[in-house]
Amino acid sequence: MIFSNKYIKYTSKSKYELYTTLILFKILSNKNIVQLGKKLLQIGLKLNLPILSLIKKTVFRQFCGGEDIIESNQKIAELGKYNIQTILDYSVEGKNDDISFNHTYNEILKNLEEAQKNNLIPFCVFKITGIARFSLLKKINANEALSEAEKVEFKTLINRLEIICKKAKNNNTPILIDAEESWIQNIIDELATNLMATYNKDTVIIYNTIQLYRSDKLEYLKRLHQTAKQQRFKLGLKIVRGAYMEKERERAKRKKYQSPIHTTKINCDQDYNAASKYCIQNIKDMQLCFGTHNEKSTEIIITLMKQEGLSNNDTRIYFSQLLGMSDNISFYLGHFNYNVAKYVPYGPVKEVLPYLIRRAEENSAITGQTNREIIRIKELLKAF
Ligand SMILES: Cc1cc2nc3c(=O)[nH]c(=O)nc-3n(C[C@H](O)[C@H](O)[C@H](O)COP(=O)(O)OP(=O)(O)OC[C@H]3O[C@@H](n4cnc5c(N)ncnc54)[C@H](O)[C@@H]3O)c2cc1C
Repeated sequence: MIFSNKYIKYTSKSKYELYTTLILFKILSNKNIVQLGKKLLQIGLKLNLPILSLIKKTVFRQFCGGEDIIESNQKIAELGKYNIQTILDYSVEGKNDDISFNHTYNEILKNLEEAQKNNLIPFCVFKITGIARFSLLKKINANEALSEAEKVEFKTLINRLEIICKKAKNNNTPILIDAEESWIQNIIDELATNLMATYNKDTVIIYNTIQLYRSDKLEYLKRLHQTAKQQRFKLGLKIVRGAYMEKERERAKRKKYQSPIHTTKINCDQDYNAASKYCIQNIKDMQLCFGTHNEKSTEIIITLMKQEGLSNNDTRIYFSQLLGMSDNISFYLGHFNYNVAKYVPYGPVKEVLPYLIRRAEENSAITGQTNREIIRIKELLKAF
């Protein structure tokens, strides 16, 4: 395997910190402990126990940059020493009121300003549900009629998107739009495609995300490419597998429709790799960000880049992993001069709890990935 640990260099991590990270991943690899922890956390918060400082020293430190942009700057600089850039992600999730949406919207604008000042930040990122109500999007996605108040709400979302994208264009900082649950994804795709058609005429400013765990998305990607060619705009694409598999399957079962997710991991992997091939072979029409921790897929992408005669640091191709995960891939890519950036979530500890719980649940569900992290840390400890 090419992504060995030997390229990982931590100047700031002590042996003690590696041990605590190991214990953390061991806890995360156990589904029952994670579920129990989630319940204890909820009880602790209700009882006002001083639980947040414990979280900040453990899970938060592993997976987040800081409570705000300033606190995250240390992490950005540290990664930058190893040719790894940062995509700051204001990870306050699950909010449902306009004050929170407005706050997130302002934070995205702040992020764009920060990116303009700091060349270690190549992109900004946001979720549409960070600036608009989930149930509003769900209603539009299902083609249901909107009330007058909801029409105003939708207009507010469109205005916010316009201002974010204009600023991104003026600053020349590309912006990634995350993909979410399938029952709101059609409207996200529609909004993102319209924005690409407007802002991606000469350079790529807007990136939409394609989830290849969905069995319809490889074909969608090819159709989108044709649309972009006809309408003469460039595609910006973040290519991922998808984060909501269990939720998608549970809903499909409950509501008795066919799940949009591939039935097997092999099919999902095949589509991810086929999409990577298709995109790299059509690189003249697009710019890409591969968001994956999968070593095989990363190796395939690197090989495809070589076959197409692309240099390692071709500006049209980025790789990205989440902070605290798959450092062996990120450090390898940085070492060999590929464009690589960590997604660095940040926000007040209490507010990023839903993100951290999702991280913990995903780690306990994808045991293969967590076990790889455990093996990697054990190897690093041995070499200390
Ligand atoms: C930088 C970055 C940005 C991301 N942005 C988004 C985003 O915007 N939206 C989003 O939804 N996700 C996003 N993700 C998460 C991503 O979709 C995956 O959940 C996560 O990265 C794990 O997949 P993997 O490619 O790393 O590799 P792997 O560990 O090889 O794959 C695990 C993934 O494979 C799929 N899978 C597992 N088992 C099966 C099965 N039986 N059948 C079908 N599929 C299966 C699932 O998607 C699972 O998450 C992002 C990830 C990264 C690193």
